[in-house]
Amino acid sequence: MILAVDLDCEACGACCSFSPSWPRFSTETEAELDALPAHFVSEDQGGMRCHGARCSALSGRVGSNTSCLVYDLRPDVCRACVPGDAACLEARSSFGLEVVEGSDLI
Ligand code: SF4
Ligand code: SF4
Repeated sequence: MILAVDLDCEACGACCSFSPSWPRFSTETEAELDALPAHFVSEDQGGMRCHGARCSALSGRVGSNTSCLVYDLRPDVCRACVPGDAACLEARSSFGLEVVEGSDLI
């Protein structure tokens, strides 16, 4: 078991590969959305483009080495996800990745 503070997003990426409904736009401004490269935005303009459950802006291999190709421009939902929170742990669990000590998912 590990502690939430030890979770390393760059060795994970589970929440970016968990569901196509995850990286949806919410409170972003028009200017923020306009700054996102169009090829990373879904056809309905409502969120990030996904391939299956995986966000198209995720680079690398889940559970090993990942990065967000639009990190500075990422949607608000991505900024709100905190390592160790419920959404994080649900996503990690779905990939069989270690969850944190004290979690109900253990
Ligand atoms: S699932 Fe958690 S640890 Fe993994 S990338 Fe998302 S926030 Fe980081
Ligand atoms: S925009 Fe970046 S942080 Fe958000 S789901 Fe896609 S890869 Fe993950």
